[in-house]
Amino acid sequence: MIPWRDLPAPLAALRELALDLRWTWSHEADELWARVDDVLWRGTRNPWTVLDDVSTQRLAELAADAGFVAHLDRLVVARRAYLTDRSWFAEERLGARLGGVAWFSMEFGLGEALPLYAGGLGVLAGDFLKAASDLGLPVIGIGLLYQEGYFRQMIDAEGRQFEAFPYNDPSSMPIEPVREAGGGWLRIPVELPGRVLQLRVWRVIVGRTRLYLLDSNDPVNGPVDRGIAGKLYGGGGEMRMMQEIVLGIGGWRLVEALHPEIEVCHLNEGHAAFAVLERARAFAKRHGLSFSEALWATRAGNVFTTHTPVAAGFDRYPLDALTRYVQAWAAGEPTFAELQQLGVTEGPISDGALNMAYLAARRAFLSFGVSRLHGAVSRRIFQPLYPRWPEHEVPFGHITNGVHAPTWDSAEADAIWTRACGKERWRHEPEDMGERCEMIEDQELWALRGAAREALVRSVRTRLGVHLSGRGHPPEVVAVSETVLDPNVLTLGFARRFTAYKRPDLLLSDPARLARLLCDETRPAQLVLAGKAHPDDEAGKRMIQEWIRFAQDPRYRRRVVFLEDYDISLAQELVRGVDVWINTPRRPWEACGTSGMKVLVNGGLNLSTLDGWWEEAYRPDLGWAIGDGKVAESADQDSRDAEELYAVLEREAAPTFYDRDASGIPRAWVARMRRSMTDLTAKYGASRMVREYLDKAYLPAARALHERVADGGAGAKAMAAWSGRLKNAWPNIHIGQPDYVRQADGWEVSVPVYLGEIAPADVRMEIYGEPLSGFAPEVIALSHDGAITGAVGAYFWRGRIPGARPADDYTARVVPSHAGVRTPAEIALIHWQR
Ligand SMILES: *Cc1c(COP(=O)(O)O)cnc(C)c1O
Repeated sequence: MIPWRDLPAPLAALRELALDLRWTWSHEADELWARVDDVLWRGTRNPWTVLDDVSTQRLAELAADAGFVAHLDRLVVARRAYLTDRSWFAEERLGARLGGVAWFSMEFGLGEALPLYAGGLGVLAGDFLKAASDLGLPVIGIGLLYQEGYFRQMIDAEGRQFEAFPYNDPSSMPIEPVREAGGGWLRIPVELPGRVLQLRVWRVIVGRTRLYLLDSNDPVNGPVDRGIAGKLYGGGGEMRMMQEIVLGIGGWRLVEALHPEIEVCHLNEGHAAFAVLERARAFAKRHGLSFSEALWATRAGNVFTTHTPVAAGFDRYPLDALTRYVQAWAAGEPTFAELQQLGVTEGPISDGALNMAYLAARRAFLSFGVSRLHGAVSRRIFQPLYPRWPEHEVPFGHITNGVHAPTWDSAEADAIWTRACGKERWRHEPEDMGERCEMIEDQELWALRGAAREALVRSVRTRLGVHLSGRGHPPEVVAVSETVLDPNVLTLGFARRFTAYKRPDLLLSDPARLARLLCDETRPAQLVLAGKAHPDDEAGKRMIQEWIRFAQDPRYRRRVVFLEDYDISLAQELVRGVDVWINTPRRPWEACGTSGMKVLVNGGLNLSTLDGWWEEAYRPDLGWAIGDGKVAESADQDSRDAEELYAVLEREAAPTFYDRDASGIPRAWVARMRRSMTDLTAKYGASRMVREYLDKAYLPAARALHERVADGGAGAKAMAAWSGRLKNAWPNIHIGQPDYVRQADGWEVSVPVYLGEIAPADVRMEIYGEPLSGFAPEVIALSHDGAITGAVGAYFWRGRIPGARPADDYTARVVPSHAGVRTPAEIALIHWQR
């Protein structure tokens, strides 16, 4: 039970407003919270804390203040209108086709009031829920309530990073317990070896959407078990596995208990992959199917997104440890032998471990990477799951990430966009918005930059003053913070995790050259940096130290500031204020990267390696690129990239920024801003991302699920029987020598195929054209053309191959075929002509 203070009756609705995290992006209530307590509000920007801490006497005064009460009432009306107005999703009449989506993630970053994230994935999860709310998509988030979130960063006078792990006190967070009808706490049980873990459930209101958090810190659990959800990404091995069991198995049980209408289980990373097992187990039990039949049924509703570009990032658990847990959870159904098959290829497990990402991919209907380039990288990483399938046919597509513009825009940017495109603009198609934004005057765009830069300079000075005194510097050094940065100087920003592949030291590789850039007499630049290094990443920590040393040098300290403890609120200030956002990952290690997208809405420009999203977004008229995006990784890559980075800043960014006309406006710079804003903002926005998931993933998955579960799962049963038959008989397939006959425009081909027990209707016969000598890969379907006389289970397949390629470029192959089944996503068998 959260202790909750009694609010005077006229103010009861303050609780409703404070509990809805819509305040993290809609600023309509800011003024109200400032009226409640200006000091508390400015210090925390967290309505829940304001409400928790404000004095009873102040509340009594406000309750008697008719003006305040009227203000509150207006906001409550506005909130209810947001919730009940017809949403985009309702207008499109999609409700009958999609009951709902459960978005599983280890982290959610909605704002600093709820510190349950570590980095990019969490922030993306937050942005996804917010955009789903705006569009009215029925999405719920499923995550964990950590007793400690990710670490907070402190830096001492020598530039060393220290980590602090503040306690997450549920009663001081804007969350509420989920109760049963009888008033008791809703508890989700999960069987662990020798005991049953009870998970409490908390609810977070995110506009129209809900995030549910599972909490192991319940007195009914043993002391060790209470700490299962102790730390985000904390504890190795078995503890981490228990966390993932809680998220996956507990999470799916929560979905069934509270939201039986959910059809789509969206796994973000492999962390929650146990959910697909629990989903199948529960379905089997409910409908009297075997586990394998239930997997065929429910898999149609599973969607997987991988967010990592390296296979080493996937969690793997030793099977012997897993055995005990599986036995406790499944109680024999599914059997362990059945489960062993799940994390791997069609064959048995080879390395004695269950790979969570593989489990997710094999049990998902549709799988995605998070940018075009990352889609290709994912096809390579997951290739081992589809043995003998060409890499380009590995069933991973991509949906490029996007950011929730209302979370990242400044009030001034919001005003400009609203004037140009209306308040509801993020709901529209990206193309429509672009045109209307063409009309914004240069004057107005340039004024936006000036105001944004000034606001950033002010907040940097305040933050730096606090940090410097915290780092133990003497007052005369702390006083310098009052004079750092200049609101009229070209402002560069760099903030992200400090780790080797992101190369946060690239800009520092030639300190003298950087110094010249910063201290140029007529065209200076200034730089704001931030970022945490993982506690075990010594190289990352050293890079922070190098930057701190540079930034403390009296010669440059007015031009370079490193701010500690990078988080969402600091990110918001940075992306609103900088002119150029720099990103320097080593290609292709950045799966997508989203921080650069956050500057778009504010008129900031990107300067980045052609990696992640920038590889598809970049054009020379709207930003700058490092590298041509083609070069293979080589030893001197870093020095060549550094050279280009400096060159772009010296020869392009600075001259364009300072090239002013008679009215003081840098026309060429503003032209770039306009292009970047109109062409990229909506395209790399979260609304586009959410709608793309709807079209490419959620609707197709829901449709397939409906088909498979109809009639007690009749369709799924047939699929399970079909795949069983195929797996048994597959080794006996034999492809005879194809006969190629030259035609005027290609080949006429005839292939004898010995299928044994398999019926011709259960397979597709194809001719595969190798991607050789500049040709794209081709797949040409043949048609079944009668049995081979005198042979059993043998048939001719024939077809025409257009084009002028030699017959040697082609190979015949057999692949499984069944209506509604995705090959090779769901069944990865393939047989090639020898
Ligand atoms: C946006 C954001 C990220 C992710 O940004 P990248 O470009 O992927 O580095 C990480 N942390 C915070 C606080 C963010 O706001």
